[in-house]
Amino acid sequence: METLVQKIAEYKAEIKNYIAQKSEEAEAFRIKYLGSKGVVKDVMGEMKNVAAEKRKEFGLLLNEFKLFTEAKYEELKNATANGEEAAAVGMDLTLPGDPLPVGTRHPISLVRNQIVSIFQRLGFAVAEGPEVEDDWHNFTALNMPENHTARDMQDTFYISQNPDWILRTHTSSVQVREMEKGKLPIRIVCPGRVYRNETISARAHCFFHQVEGLYIADNVSFADLKQTLYFFVKEMFGENVKVRFRPSYFPFTEPSAEMDISCLICGGKGCNVCKHTGWVEILGCGMVHPNLLENCGIDSNKYTGFAFGMGVERITMLKYQIKDLRLFSENDVRFLRQFSGAV
Ligand SMILES: [Zn+2]
Repeated sequence: METLVQKIAEYKAEIKNYIAQKSEEAEAFRIKYLGSKGVVKDVMGEMKNVAAEKRKEFGLLLNEFKLFTEAKYEELKNATANGEEAAAVGMDLTLPGDPLPVGTRHPISLVRNQIVSIFQRLGFAVAEGPEVEDDWHNFTALNMPENHTARDMQDTFYISQNPDWILRTHTSSVQVREMEKGKLPIRIVCPGRVYRNETISARAHCFFHQVEGLYIADNVSFADLKQTLYFFVKEMFGENVKVRFRPSYFPFTEPSAEMDISCLICGGKGCNVCKHTGWVEILGCGMVHPNLLENCGIDSNKYTGFAFGMGVERITMLKYQIKDLRLFSENDVRFLRQFSGAV
């Protein structure tokens, strides 16, 4: 009994120090200690030679030895398997991973969200519509029937499959879709991407983004339009910005106006950006033409409304003093990273 206890202690020391680099060496350990002719079996076989009164004590010792050996085998097996996997891929799998760089919001998204949130505070809901439109929603319903000269200003891309389908030239088509639903009053802003067949330059692109607004209810007046847009400009560009309206023409509004703000660069003194006038145009607006209301089944004797529309690129260029429109779509991260602080 004494010699057996001594022997087990020696085996345990041996097992504890056993090192395996490869899975074959872990397997050799298993055969030597846990195999059918292995050390553990051999030691257990000694049980019959132990005196009856010592058997319980010896049994506990043997069991503990067996568990100890099995645990060591599991440890060796896992360690060699991980080591070989790492060697196979030629790297240390325990090293921390490469950090994933976090991107930033695109300046167009930042400014669009800001515009939308200002109008949401005034009670405007967001409406969206398809980018592939039919002729009716993009032109005809908006008082621009076939051969109307205003269509020349908005040449676009046509779908050869169906000549009635086009890429929308403005988000006014969403306004038509909302009016056709016939649920009044309507108070919406329509943000979205629009298309024009234009030569790409620093000031024009074949696609850009708009936010348009529409408010139709009883007794909506031009004063409501002005007050809404004054609020927008102060929120967007600050308290000190001056505003002016100039009469204009759009087929879908009557009367129509364009709105200018005092130049943000020179503060109204005159510079290259404002072409030395002190003013820059930011949006078009007007009272919804009665023909539009009738086209969409709304009684123009009962309801009136105003509409406005602005280019998100233009507002972004003014706000961040960006001189070339093409920067927005070139995906140069050196440009885009400059907006990481703007939320
Ligand atoms: Zn200026």
